[in-house]
Amino acid sequence: MTQKFLKISLLFSVFCFTTATFAQNKIVLSNVEIFNGKDNKTKVGSIVIEKNKIVKIIAGKASGSDLDQAQVIDGQGKFVMPGMIDSHWHSFLAANSNQAIMLGDESFLFINAAKESENTLQRGFTTVRDLGGHVMGIKQANDYGINKGPRIYPSEAMISQTGGHGDASFPWTEPRMIDHTPPRFQVLGGSIIADGEQEVTVAAREQLRKGASQLKVMAGGGVATIYDPLDATQYTTKEIKAAVDAAENWGTYVTVHAYTPKAVKQAIDAGVKCVDHGHLLDEATVKILGEKDIWLSMQPFDLDASAYTNPEQAANKVLVGQGTENVYTWAKKHKVKLAFGTDLVSPPKNPLRQNELVVNLKQWFTNFEILKMITYDNAQLLKMSGPRNPYPADLGTLAEDAYADILLFDKSPLEDISVIGDPKNNILLIIKDGKIYKDQLTKK
Ligand SMILES: [Zn+2]
Repeated sequence: MTQKFLKISLLFSVFCFTTATFAQNKIVLSNVEIFNGKDNKTKVGSIVIEKNKIVKIIAGKASGSDLDQAQVIDGQGKFVMPGMIDSHWHSFLAANSNQAIMLGDESFLFINAAKESENTLQRGFTTVRDLGGHVMGIKQANDYGINKGPRIYPSEAMISQTGGHGDASFPWTEPRMIDHTPPRFQVLGGSIIADGEQEVTVAAREQLRKGASQLKVMAGGGVATIYDPLDATQYTTKEIKAAVDAAENWGTYVTVHAYTPKAVKQAIDAGVKCVDHGHLLDEATVKILGEKDIWLSMQPFDLDASAYTNPEQAANKVLVGQGTENVYTWAKKHKVKLAFGTDLVSPPKNPLRQNELVVNLKQWFTNFEILKMITYDNAQLLKMSGPRNPYPADLGTLAEDAYADILLFDKSPLEDISVIGDPKNNILLIIKDGKIYKDQLTKK
């Protein structure tokens, strides 16, 4: 047993050694207009990257020793900003349809997810907070540069009660006490059904054992599922608190899927630090989020329900879309910490809308507010993972010692946010972890 363990750890350390030598580079991105992620002004300068970090930002052009042994890229005065962050992404669900999940071969599904992860990075998202799905393998492959995808903050399986938003069983499935066969989505690591404080504790600890950087708990009904009503409150305060205790003992936090005031208030009572969605909230509950410094990770959902053939789901989609306006308005009024996430599932077309949702924010926010939210602000939410943060240096900003995750645009999104909507043509250079993943600037 010990020998076997030694072999595994030796293998692992050899693997880590070979991959750790991956980004031994020096790049000078010279003559660029720099938006640092948080200040409402830009500066013309040069960015010096060594290995995977920004080591220096120089006013004007780089010269002298800064250029030693460097790959120098002339940015032609174009606009650069930190890589975008999506605070609510599903690397697995964005790549695989419900039908594929039910019927597809497991390896096919995960290869799909890896490929979509590459597409995600090519859209300019250098980091995602993954709120449900077995993505640890993709995360590792992305981190080692084996797969060309973004950094991933994984929640692993979404924790759901029986009949909750993460329960992929059929209504007529035999009771769990009689038939222990879990639904396919659970087998694939997408969700885990846990009822009662003890089961929730175990489910929470299992995700932490897998390496989750935060936990995702389903605290209310949803739109995309048929059997749990949108207005339903899921779990009890004690059950959610069991997950919160497990997360906090591990140094991290719980975020919940919830739309309604009742579901959100219960989750707040249980000690969650982030609410995902929240579109059906009233002003009083939004105010509590502001007072208690709880993050609201929202999606600028519109009224388009064409993706749903079921009339009840379509009506719910419209209802949620109608809430967007009010909640953004109240969130600004009560100074709620807002994060931006897209939560786009059901391929093949939906994930392509990731950039469109950024542009949609212009209905409520200035270009500067949008760019700050999708970079610097989202990065502050990611820091809530504390010691479980897999990427402890700064993200979402262009500053010394921050990770070198940089986008260069043909035109400035600070002047016209719509350029983000067409990443294929408008993002000319994508750097993640100090490595170039797209270059249409020097290689036209
Ligand atoms: Zn989601």
